[in-house]
Amino acid sequence: MSAELSTCALCPRLCRPACPVTTGTGREAAVPTFLAGMAIEHERGRIEAELAEAALSLCTDCGACEAHCHIHHPLPELLRDARFEASVERVFEPVAAIEGDAEVVAVEADERPLAEVVARTLGVEVARWKTRDRFGAAHLDSRGWDPEPLIRAAEGRRIIVADGGVAQALERAGIAVEWLTELVERDGCTGSCADGGERPLACCGGGGPLPVHHPEDAQRVARAYHRRWEGGVLSDARCRGHLRSAGFEARDVLDELLEAE
Ligand code: SF4
Ligand code: SF4
Repeated sequence: MSAELSTCALCPRLCRPACPVTTGTGREAAVPTFLAGMAIEHERGRIEAELAEAALSLCTDCGACEAHCHIHHPLPELLRDARFEASVERVFEPVAAIEGDAEVVAVEADERPLAEVVARTLGVEVARWKTRDRFGAAHLDSRGWDPEPLIRAAEGRRIIVADGGVAQALERAGIAVEWLTELVERDGCTGSCADGGERPLACCGGGGPLPVHHPEDAQRVARAYHRRWEGGVLSDARCRGHLRSAGFEARDVLDELLEAE
C-alpha cells in the first residue's frame, strides 16, 4: 500500500482546496497529503495506532479528493484501508430484526415514519427496519464491523433508504439499495457524498468517522457548508441531521413528503 500512499504523501497538495474538512476547519492536519503521510508513518511502525486512528479520522470519506485529483488517485479507499489497520476492535449495536414480512423494506434511521411514506408512495405493504447507529456507518473501517447480519436480514428483500450512512453500510455489505428520491422521482435536490447523484457541494461534515472522533471539527465543516449552500431540499437525511445539529434549518425529501400529506 505504501507506494500508492506515497503518490499522495509526495503530492504538492493539489486536492487540498477540494477537501471539505481541510477547508472547513483550516487544519493542516486534515490535508489529504498529510493523512496519506500519517498512514505511511503508521504502516512503518513509527506512530502508535491510537494516534494514527485519530489523524485518519479527520476525513468524511466524501471522495472529493479523488474527484478533484489530476490522476483520480483512489485516496479515499487507501484511507479506508489505513483506518482499518489503525483501528481497535469495536463492539457494534446488534442489527435489529426487520418488522414485518413485506418484500419492500424501508430503513428508518431517525424518528420519522419512512416505511409509511414508502407504503403510500408504492401502494404496497412495507416492512420497517430500524437502526439507531446507521448500521455502524461511522465505523465501517473498524475491526469488528460485520456485514453478515445485514446480508442475512436483507436477503430477498427490496431495500429503500433515505440516509447516506445507512446506504453506505448496506452497500459495503454488498446490498443494493434504492433511494427515496429515486422512488418519488424527486430531482433537483442538494445531493450528498453518499447518494450517487450530482453533488454540487462537498461534504456537510456528517459522514465517515469525523463526527464521532472530532465532533467540533464536524460542526465547523457544517458551518462552512452552510455558508456555501444556497438552500433547497436535501436528498440525504444524514446531511439534514448533521446540519440541524449545527443549528441550521435543513429539510430533506422525507420532510417534504410528510408536509405534503
Ligand atoms: S488524491 Fe491526487 S491530488 Fe490528492 S494528494 Fe493524492 S495524488 Fe495528490
Ligand atoms: S475523502 Fe473527503 S474528507 Fe477525506 S481526505 Fe478526501 S476530500 Fe478530505
